[in-house]
Amino acid sequence: MKFTFAQYEIFLDLLKSKNYAFSGYSQYPQSEKCVILRHDIDFSLRKALELARIENAKDVRATYFVLLSTNFYNVFSRGSYEMLMEVMDLGHSIGLHFDEKRYDIVDSKSLNLYINNEKHILEELLGESITAVSMHRPSKWILESNVKLEGIINTYSDCFFKDFKYLSDSRMLWREDVLGIIEKDQHDRLHILTHPFWYSDNEETMEEKLVGFIDSSRPERYAQIKENFRNLEEIISFSKIIY
Ligand SMILES: [Zn+2]
Repeated sequence: MKFTFAQYEIFLDLLKSKNYAFSGYSQYPQSEKCVILRHDIDFSLRKALELARIENAKDVRATYFVLLSTNFYNVFSRGSYEMLMEVMDLGHSIGLHFDEKRYDIVDSKSLNLYINNEKHILEELLGESITAVSMHRPSKWILESNVKLEGIINTYSDCFFKDFKYLSDSRMLWREDVLGIIEKDQHDRLHILTHPFWYSDNEETMEEKLVGFIDSSRPERYAQIKENFRNLEEIISFSKIIY
């Protein structure tokens, strides 16, 4: 499956044609045949919003996992907050994307503590309860020990891997033929992780996507300074920072 929005739409249409219900992490037992669409937002909320709009146009619901401890976006900024509210208005759920490496986690007690701290912060911000957490670059311990979390669903718990057929586009690589698997219609429960960052209008290599992201940071940084600095144009013209 190519990493374009057009292919993503074909992927959604295929799931719909096979009568999968688009489910969240707590509601899935109500459906005999369902898919949980999980999106981890590692780099860009804007990219996530683009995907959220495409899904909404097809009446599809997904769960978007956001990082609190990242340098790439700040969920508390006005622009980010408004994008997250729009994702929710489009009918999607928000989950917590948690970076274990941010903290000194020694056991499941400290893991629970830090996850619940971030969960409460996100709930306060969005005015919604956060019911699921996904790990950003999970450690071997998380992947292998089926850790029980208090008050929040661990998307890495065994059931989402054993009772579900799990497919992921991590590092911009589907390790299996995702469209072929859906087409064969052999699984009543699918758990599919996609990263909105990899999808674009045109086909691009991983290098092109990353270079494009780095290049886009110059005008973004200019706009951020401009919001906080009077008469920036008198010091640096916008045209000067564009290569
Ligand atoms: Zn991640």
